Amino acid sequence: DTRPNDLSAFWMPFTSNRQFKKQPRMFVSADRMHYTTSDGRQVLDGTAGLWCCNAGHNRPKIVEAIQKQAAELDYAPAFQMGHPKAFELATKLVDMAPAPFEHAFFTNSGSESVETALKMALAYHRARGDSARTRLIGRERGYHGVNFGGISVGGIVNNRRMFGTLLTGVDHLPHTHLPEKNSFVKGQPEHGGYLADDLERIVTLHGAETIAAVIVEPMAGSTGVLLPPKGYLERLREICTKHGILLIFDEVITGFGRLGSSFAAEYYGVMPDLITCAKGLTNGVIPMGAVLATKQIHDAFMQGPEEAIELFHGYTYSGNPMAAAAGLATLDTYAEEGLFERAAGLAQYWEDALHSLKGLPHVIDIRGMGLIGAVELQSIPGAPTKRAFDAFLKCYEKGVLIRTTGDIIAMSPPLIIEKEHIDTLIGTLADVLKTLE
Ligand code: PMP
Repeated sequence: DTRPNDLSAFWMPFTSNRQFKKQPRMFVSADRMHYTTSDGRQVLDGTAGLWCCNAGHNRPKIVEAIQKQAAELDYAPAFQMGHPKAFELATKLVDMAPAPFEHAFFTNSGSESVETALKMALAYHRARGDSARTRLIGRERGYHGVNFGGISVGGIVNNRRMFGTLLTGVDHLPHTHLPEKNSFVKGQPEHGGYLADDLERIVTLHGAETIAAVIVEPMAGSTGVLLPPKGYLERLREICTKHGILLIFDEVITGFGRLGSSFAAEYYGVMPDLITCAKGLTNGVIPMGAVLATKQIHDAFMQGPEEAIELFHGYTYSGNPMAAAAGLATLDTYAEEGLFERAAGLAQYWEDALHSLKGLPHVIDIRGMGLIGAVELQSIPGAPTKRAFDAFLKCYEKGVLIRTTGDIIAMSPPLIIEKEHIDTLIGTLADVLKTLE
């Protein structure tokens, strides 16, 4: 089949990596832990798609739920009207979250969840008469999607430098990744709960009365699996509470079992005021995200201050029947198969397997938690992504899918992974690392 190469012009809009243009790769089907490529090869999925297919691929229960829903009720307006499955899913979601959330606001992606949460935070303060609280605080190396709010609070300079004025009044906490201090540490690094104290510096600089919210990924995924140092999230929570600042956890990757818990908030025992999620909510099958909110925040947002009586927020596809059906079948699958507990049970095996790569050429750091992990490589001067991308290509040729960001290799397999798959994944990567220039 030569079509993939003919599609190179079509390929570009959805990838930033120009190398794809020369050598597009295509998946044509999938089942549980494996993809099948257009040239008929099986590829072990070491990344759960894009950190989203937590229950593995083409799970019959989820497929059937979508088919049944399509035949029964294809669409219902998201406003004025409703349908039962959206309410059922919202209830299940808030019940499984560790904090006292009462509402789920449905979106269609992680990026939309982030925008929604940021607006909720501002509206909450305004409805309480704190209209000066408009500043937002993100974190260097934080990833919060690609919309304007998300790239403003996000900490990836390249994603925002060409867009001129973004959200104003945004500060970024320093990132917590100190490779020289946490190289090859197993579990959560010890250093730097004090790094959260930088929030106090920002509060002193601008005044607490100007700050609406802090948004962080509890564990930064996309920029290389950066684990929070011990005490970091706790300290952020403390400072936010002290100054009346809302704390938002962006759990688009860490939600739904990735760390062996429902959400990272549960794993770390730190309760945010808002949680954003997406990806694993529908097992990546149908686009859907959500913001989980307390009653107080939700009511303030929905009712708004007096001048915002006409305030409108929501999406045509918010809580649409197909996504809601997929979400319900997904959460049922997680529960019935005990997949979060399964991830927790495999975490030690996963960590040991990752750390078996220590000492291989170019490996300068290894990080992991639950069923997510990263291997950082020493870059070739002037070619900051080459080694990891070469590893990606070679792994793919050998039938294993990994992901790269810079010279960091990231892995986050479906939670249904077996130990033998972990051996294959890490074993293949080890073989490949030995051959890298
Ligand atoms: N936030 C986080 C933490 C993410 O990891 C992602 C996606 N990788 C997003 C937001 C954006 O999600 P989406 O691509 O669904 O818009």
